[in-house]
Amino acid sequence: MCQLLEKSEDNVKGCGSTICKRQASSDANQKWPDGTVFQYRLVGVLPGSDTATMESAFALAWEKWAQMCPTYKFQKATGNNANITISVVSSNDKDFAGGQAAGFAQKGPDAYLKGYVKFRNSALPSWSKASIHTLFLHEFGHVLGLGHSANKAAIMAPIIDKMTTIRPLTSEDQSRIKNFIASKTAAKNFYSNSNRPQTPQTPQRNSQRKPYNDNQGQNTPRDLNPIRQDESQIRHWRRV
Ligand SMILES: [Zn+2]
Repeated sequence: MCQLLEKSEDNVKGCGSTICKRQASSDANQKWPDGTVFQYRLVGVLPGSDTATMESAFALAWEKWAQMCPTYKFQKATGNNANITISVVSSNDKDFAGGQAAGFAQKGPDAYLKGYVKFRNSALPSWSKASIHTLFLHEFGHVLGLGHSANKAAIMAPIIDKMTTIRPLTSEDQSRIKNFIASKTAAKNFYSNSNRPQTPQTPQRNSQRKPYNDNQGQNTPRDLNPIRQDESQIRHWRRV
C-alpha cells in the first residue's frame, strides 16, 4: 500500500507508513517459480495518461527488475492467459479505504499463481510516465515478493522518494530481490492437477467374506459385517 503525500512537484511521496502497516516489511513466504511469464492485463487508464504510455512505463520498470530476475519474463497477455491484473481504481476500492495511498499490490503469488497491482486514479491530478514508472517499479517489487524497506532511499521504502522522476533500483533493492529469489522455495499452483486431492476410492467389497450357508448347521460362517449382523437380529426378532 502506498500513500502519496504531495508537497511539491519534486517531492511527491509514494507509500505512507501508517497505511503501509497492511503491507508489512516482511517478504512473501514463497517466490514465483523459475520461468514464470508475467502476463499482464491492464484495466483502466490513469488521468493524464493513455494505455500506450502506461504500458511503456511498465516495460521500463520491468527492465530494471529483469536484471535481477533473469528467469522471469514480463509481457502483455493475449486472450485469457493473464496472471497479473493491473487496474486503475477509485478511492472507494477496498484496498484504499480510508487512506491516501497511490498504489497497492499483492505480495508474492497467490494460490493460483496470480497477482495484481492497483493504481488509485485520484492520487495525482495528472499521471506522468515517470510517476507511473516509479510507482509501478515499487509495486512490482511487492508482486515479486518483497516487503517494505526501512531504508528511505530504497525504491521499496514505504514512502517513495522523488516518485515523479524515473528512478533506478538502489543497490539495496537489487540485493534484496537477489537474496529473496535465492533463498525462497517456489510456490506451486494449489489448484493444479498435481495438487488436487486424490479422488476417494470406491470401497472394495469384502472378498474375504464367505457365503452364508444354512445347511452348515453350527458351522455356519459368521457374517463379519456388524450392520448385517444387526439386520439379521432385527429380522429374527420380527419373526418371533
Ligand atoms: Zn508499498
